[in-house]
Amino acid sequence: MKKISLVVPCYNEEESIPLFYQTVSKVITSMNTPTPTVEPEYIFVDDGSSDHTLDEMKQLHQRYPETVHYRSFSRNFGKESALAAGLQATTGDLVAVMDVDLQDPPELLPKMFALVENDGYDCVGTVQKERRGQSKLRAFLSSSFYRVINWLSDVHIEPNARDYRLMTRQYVDTVLSLPEFNRFSKGIFSWVGFKTTYLAYESQPRAAGTTHWNLRQLFAYSIEGIIDFSDAPLRLATWVGSLSFLLSIVGLIFVIVRALTVGGAVAGWPSLVVIMLLVGGIQLFCLGILGQYISKIYLETKHRPKYIIREEQ
Ligand code: UDP
Ligand code: MG
Repeated sequence: MKKISLVVPCYNEEESIPLFYQTVSKVITSMNTPTPTVEPEYIFVDDGSSDHTLDEMKQLHQRYPETVHYRSFSRNFGKESALAAGLQATTGDLVAVMDVDLQDPPELLPKMFALVENDGYDCVGTVQKERRGQSKLRAFLSSSFYRVINWLSDVHIEPNARDYRLMTRQYVDTVLSLPEFNRFSKGIFSWVGFKTTYLAYESQPRAAGTTHWNLRQLFAYSIEGIIDFSDAPLRLATWVGSLSFLLSIVGLIFVIVRALTVGGAVAGWPSLVVIMLLVGGIQLFCLGILGQYISKIYLETKHRPKYIIREEQ
């Protein structure tokens, strides 16, 4: 009998929680027939919801005090923090992370379980196949993001991987031992290594509620990921700076030689202004990159908690 902890981050998901519990508990029951194999533990994390999400969790906890637990944040800290808080509370031999909106099909659990138990994988992740109803622009942006981050960073980040994954205790403990405040979990999961495989599945529509992501947030999230897992942009700043320095030396020599041979020229104001703007722009651009990293360092050195728990059971 293996204990399996299910970590479920929830932000304004009052409608989805009962549906989620019903669907997943059916799958668990099917895994336990004919022979009992898994014992579930649900860890719901209320990420500072403003609707009745917490009440739904409390109701479930009252009905199943042994198997359903919840942790509720003092405000919205974001999914990464919710995941960290959930993982921290798990006690199972195996741990699964799942979205509450049923976009991560629970029917995959038995297959993932078999891969960990029989084939010796430490982590089974999931990859979403082509997303129906997704705009061309969004698909293009997301594939570009994976191309850029994999080109720039040392860890490989599986394109279109979801957060839905099943992990062993050892794997989870390793992930939790990374103390960083800026948690880009897609990167952290790859960084720790271990034997990992991916299952592909068709994308599912949301069971209820609406998504919390818009294009601007996704873009900000992508930049975060790149900054957290690569220092290539910093090196880019050095290269761009060096290149413009070299070019200006060449230009200087040209000007001096021309002044000595042909004589000085007053013409050329527009080009001068353009060059000044260009160099100024490059400087600001590089300063901006530097600033991104400094702000990350600033946040890390404050040693603030990743989340604050208001109540838990
Ligand atoms: N979520 C969260 N905190 C947030 C935003 C989202 O815990 O600040 C949870 C949300 O309740 C859901 C999961 O993260 O269980 C995925 O969110 P969503 O479905 O909005 O993302 P998508 O599936 O569209 O990528
Ligand atoms: Mg979703």
